[in-house]
Amino acid sequence: MPVRTSPAVMAFPKSDALDALADGVMATDTGTPARGPAIVYVNDAACQMTGYAREELLGRSPSVLQGPATDQVVLSRLRSDLEAGRSFAGQAINYRKDGTAFLMEWSVSTLDDDGGRPAYFVAVQRDATVPAFRLMQAERHARTDSLTGLPNRAHVDEILDAGSWLSTRVHSAVVVDVDHFKCINDEHGHLVGDEVLRLLARRLTASVRGGDLVARWGGEEFCVLMIGDRDDASVLGARIVTAVSETPFETSAGPLTVTVSAGSATAATELDRAVDVLRAADEALFRAKRNGRNRAEHAA
Ligand code: GH3
Ligand code: MG
Ligand code: MG
Repeated sequence: MPVRTSPAVMAFPKSDALDALADGVMATDTGTPARGPAIVYVNDAACQMTGYAREELLGRSPSVLQGPATDQVVLSRLRSDLEAGRSFAGQAINYRKDGTAFLMEWSVSTLDDDGGRPAYFVAVQRDATVPAFRLMQAERHARTDSLTGLPNRAHVDEILDAGSWLSTRVHSAVVVDVDHFKCINDEHGHLVGDEVLRLLARRLTASVRGGDLVARWGGEEFCVLMIGDRDDASVLGARIVTAVSETPFETSAGPLTVTVSAGSATAATELDRAVDVLRAADEALFRAKRNGRNRAEHAA
């Protein structure tokens, strides 16, 4: 049963200012050896954010807001900060009364009694779900090519910098460049050129296996980071070339036959850095161009 009129609830020095704050405020007592802290005050904003009525929160543990996805590391930092007399600030998933999760950003400080002993923990709480979501969207946006929706070069660089691509199993890179793309732009205009790039991105994605990454490397160049050896990479390079040339692209200017050239390279002891693998794939691509285009070559 909520202990709404317990002495601690009555004694908490609430104020009109706290009541009126747009941020949530939740205060607890410091708890007893038998039980943890119990809520002695919540303002309207905290009730609105959590979906609980005031009566449902008073007397309860603040853990009523926690659940399976609540970060326990953050909670233990909260405890150790308060035990050490420090204020706490952090973020964790909390749960509303209806069970929906939200990201709560909150700070907690200790309110001492007249004798200087900790009497209350006072938390200021804010729903940070939307700002966090916007940040994630912005980060995703920065790594995505807006024309094709594929990961962009910055994203590939990030993956390569992280080192995981090189550290796992055997891997290869395939770089793909549209043949005579300037002619497509010149004959049909840039917008049709853009359409071709979008359709090509789809066709490349359909040509690779699940774990492979297709990215727009720049202009009309794409690259595939794949798990696989020299044979796998040669097969993929050839498959991409065929998949592009065998079926015309349905554009607003009508069906267009497009061809690409591909160059692939596989990591080996002498190509042990991602940048070396990609450079070797680029050289193979150059050879494919020189040898007549609409073909794939593997690094020598
Ligand atoms: P090849 O590769 O076969 O040697 O000939 P190419 O005509 O494709 O040669 P190049 O790589 O020099 O030309 C690429 C052209 O791609 C030049 C540039 O205007 C065009 N391009 C680059 N990015 C875009 C884009 O986002 N949209 C469109 N429409 N064109 C682009
Ligand atoms: Mg090019
Ligand atoms: Mg080209």
